[in-house]
Amino acid sequence: MQTACPNCDLIVELPQIAAKQIAVCPHCRTKLSSLNTNNDTLIVALSISALIMLLSSMFYPFISFSSSGITQTITLPDAAKILFNYDSELLGIFIDVSIIGLPMALLATLIPLHLGLLKVLPFAIAKRLLKFTLALEPWIMCEIFLIGVLVSMVKIMSMADISFGISFWAYICFVILYIAALRHLNRQRLWEQVRPLANISEANNGDRGIDKNIRACHVCHQLSEHEYCPRCHSKAHVRNPNSIQKAFAWLLTSVACYIPANIFPIMYTTSLGDQSPSTLIGGVFVLWQAGSYPIAIIIFLASVVVPLAKALILIFLCIIVKQPANSQSIRYTKVYQLTEFIGKWSMIDVFVVAILVALVQLGNLMSVSPGLGTVFFTAMVLSQMMAAHAFDPRLLWDSPNDVTRN
Ligand SMILES: [Zn+2]
Ligand SMILES: [Zn+2]
Repeated sequence: MQTACPNCDLIVELPQIAAKQIAVCPHCRTKLSSLNTNNDTLIVALSISALIMLLSSMFYPFISFSSSGITQTITLPDAAKILFNYDSELLGIFIDVSIIGLPMALLATLIPLHLGLLKVLPFAIAKRLLKFTLALEPWIMCEIFLIGVLVSMVKIMSMADISFGISFWAYICFVILYIAALRHLNRQRLWEQVRPLANISEANNGDRGIDKNIRACHVCHQLSEHEYCPRCHSKAHVRNPNSIQKAFAWLLTSVACYIPANIFPIMYTTSLGDQSPSTLIGGVFVLWQAGSYPIAIIIFLASVVVPLAKALILIFLCIIVKQPANSQSIRYTKVYQLTEFIGKWSMIDVFVVAILVALVQLGNLMSVSPGLGTVFFTAMVLSQMMAAHAFDPRLLWDSPNDVTRN
């Protein structure tokens, strides 16, 4: 079985591997395949349990918050509902979709897919269904939401009594089961059920796809010489068209959002009638002064350092692709993979604001409302995710003579 490495475009023959072995690219060390084990029953079991836990976490109290004898209890869907009342509909929709809607859709489709649905569906429907299902995963943020809940609890612990409801524990179980299900997911195996990977005669092991005008599909990794992937019908390119320009455009958008995200308050806290704004960096100072050093460091890293470092790294990579591949290319590839991985963790602070707004609603005694900074911050993180997605890491391994970059 031949494939091209998604990170460096080297064409390699995938060997038969034994248990606990993985196949890595000899060029850039990217993991190319793991053992074709049958985890179907396990994934079905984990997905069903995760789905039950997610559904249970919707209907019971999630967290209660009490101060001066007044108690406020919220359920999970309340978080987004209360944001709607503050004219932050977009933020509310984003939260509902990324922590409830998408994981539910993904889990609900994984169950029939692992019960053999792909083998009985007509090819045209099977390929669409699988493509759609696998595309959901990068936008699911349930584990980040959970960390956000814990951070917001630390923030308000000193002001009030907090108690966790049944839904909170159910949501933790859901996140653990969801992560376990995804860990066992074998994307290659599912694509093989739609249609086995076909070899193409022109490809020799050790060639680079670009030299032979061979296109590797970014969705299912099938090689082809045509514009459309013969297996999943996605448009296949030798290199993503205008990848650098697109990445730069998204990066500029993110930098433009980074400034107002830091200047405008991300939330307002009303306490005994006094309203005080708090900015991203201000929130970190408050946590530090309160002695919550680890949380202050996490928030500082996730909200201030990571977005800035990520933008600088991506700008650097966009410039460095002009150089021919050299001994550093493997290091640049690793850095790129890291920026892609940590991208969504910057969303912690958005979830913290959402939870505080939903929970702390005791009128003039104490309440929290969202600020404009949160909207800019969300837009910044999403544009950085789009920038990393637009960047084609294979460019890092090209020489300036490879002119057919489209
Ligand atoms: Zn590689
Ligand atoms: Zn494909």
